[in-house]
Amino acid sequence: MTTVHVPLGSRAYDVHIGAGLLEKSGTLIAEALRPTRTLLVTDSNVAKYGYADLVRQSLEAQGIDCAAFIFPAGEASKSLYTYEKILEACTGFSLYSGDVLIALGGGVVGDLTGFAAATYRRGISFAQVPTTLLAAVDSSVGGKTGVNLPAGKNLVGAFWQPRLVITDVNTFDTLPPEEYANGAAECLKHGLLFDESLFAALESGGPVSTAQIARNVELKRDLVLADERDTGRRRLLNLGHTLGHAIEQASGYAIPHGAAIGLGMLLMARAFCPAIADRLRAALEKNNLPTHCDYSIRNLFTALEQDKKRAGGNITVVVPLRIGQCELRTMPMEQLKHLLEERL
Ligand code: ADP
Ligand code: ZN
Repeated sequence: MTTVHVPLGSRAYDVHIGAGLLEKSGTLIAEALRPTRTLLVTDSNVAKYGYADLVRQSLEAQGIDCAAFIFPAGEASKSLYTYEKILEACTGFSLYSGDVLIALGGGVVGDLTGFAAATYRRGISFAQVPTTLLAAVDSSVGGKTGVNLPAGKNLVGAFWQPRLVITDVNTFDTLPPEEYANGAAECLKHGLLFDESLFAALESGGPVSTAQIARNVELKRDLVLADERDTGRRRLLNLGHTLGHAIEQASGYAIPHGAAIGLGMLLMARAFCPAIADRLRAALEKNNLPTHCDYSIRNLFTALEQDKKRAGGNITVVVPLRIGQCELRTMPMEQLKHLLEERL
């Protein structure tokens, strides 16, 4: 087991990563939080593989009560409706301030459960047990929680840090390849942003090791520590995301997040740092990510302008300088559009 410590003052916590940690989750949760009762929240896919049973048995072996709340898998569940159902499960199971919510699943489970934890009785503790590579390297670090509204994604939420993160890499064995690729895209992003050796380790594809997951968590942690509320340097994590979100939106969310941000990074590289474009393209291919974008810059900007309602305004984008270094650059939206149209 590898542990990354997140020293957030009184809210400091550990991220444990390793194989077979679900079986040890009861001990780890007991040591860190000493709850008497826990409510484990998961989705119908994750429940199917028996992961919830492993966590529950491990908690019960420590004398900790554990009830489970299971909601239908899918982004459509990331709603106020499911949020309210989780809160009802909290009251139904009489959770009090010292008790703990456990998020077992990918980003949808983590965001929903974290938001319930942030708001139930004005905030209770929660532990994240990510079962997707994406959640392990991205959404389980940083404290962003929330749900979607009909008008858009993540429109309601809170910053609320977990008290403990337990990543059992064995759970990735059942992830569909396209879900795995989603996580790999964020790992490549971290390498491209900050760490050429991480990028080099990932560029031939294949499973991401425990040590590499830990490195991703450290890199994201360092940014979050410097900028918990996401107003400064942390925005570097948006590399590939401005165009990526536009691609997701233009496709009606048929293109998965990782695929879209991979394309977003590639377009930015081709426009601003062509010297690295071939290497990035090859790395995306090896990691089962697409390298061809079907949408024109004009299409993408239509989506962007609608999304941000800031046509004519400034936009801050993340520009690659070399593998392992990028910078934030603010420019008028129109200028970005012209640059991209001209260079791509
Ligand atoms: P993320 O944002 O982390 O990709 P989601 O919560 O959207 O997370 O999860 C993606 C999909 O993968 C969902 O359908 C979810 O139920 C499923 N899933 C999550 N973890 C696993 C796993 N370990 N094995 C198989 N499927 C999983
Ligand atoms: Zn992302």
